[in-house]
Amino acid sequence: MARSYVREARRRGLGRRRERIGRIVERLAAEHADAEIALRFRTDLELLVSVMLSAQTTDVNVNRVTPALFRRYRAPEDYLAVPVDVLERDIYATGFFRQKAKAIRGTMRVLIEDFDGRVPRRIEELVTLPGVARKTANVVAAELGHAQGIVVDTHVRRLTQRLGLTRNDDPVKIERDLQRVVPRADWARFPHLLIWHGRRVCDARKPRCEECVLEDLCPSSRAVT
Ligand code: SF4
Repeated sequence: MARSYVREARRRGLGRRRERIGRIVERLAAEHADAEIALRFRTDLELLVSVMLSAQTTDVNVNRVTPALFRRYRAPEDYLAVPVDVLERDIYATGFFRQKAKAIRGTMRVLIEDFDGRVPRRIEELVTLPGVARKTANVVAAELGHAQGIVVDTHVRRLTQRLGLTRNDDPVKIERDLQRVVPRADWARFPHLLIWHGRRVCDARKPRCEECVLEDLCPSSRAVT
């Protein structure tokens, strides 16, 4: 499906990916000026824990749990100072609480032993933390102002395919395709813009193409013109 949209963009004379991307970013930025990470955090450590907790659940759900959690756990040592079942109970509502508690405690150990208790900035360092895969590392690095890649979640995958920005389905390959065309200065905000556009306009089942600011740039537009 994604492959046909890249070809379709050419067939409709919409221009090459590099030619369209500037207008896509510009219009989405104007449309979703409030697009930002939905997780609530105050420190680098809270950011890291929030992103780890957000696996397999919604940001809203994480935000319900974290205010009380972060009052109780302020430093990496705090996550190791309680029995694991206490931490499990404190993050229970985010689901997969056993795996998450294990990953968080493992991560805190590595932060203390290898990074003086601080959250590293580099992707290569972040992915050494237990339970931190590339997507989590990308989110954390971008929010800390050191974007070294482009976050690809389900919205980013769907929209970049529909917009004919990638032929691929695998998130790692999609990220590589995007890194070739999206200006580096936009790597951090581009996923937020797509995520918010995906939630508000480009729905997975019922995209509202008639109302979409990208309609004339999108090879999969269903708007009747
Ligand atoms: S035109 Fe339709 S398919 Fe294309 S981005 Fe907009 S809502 Fe999505």
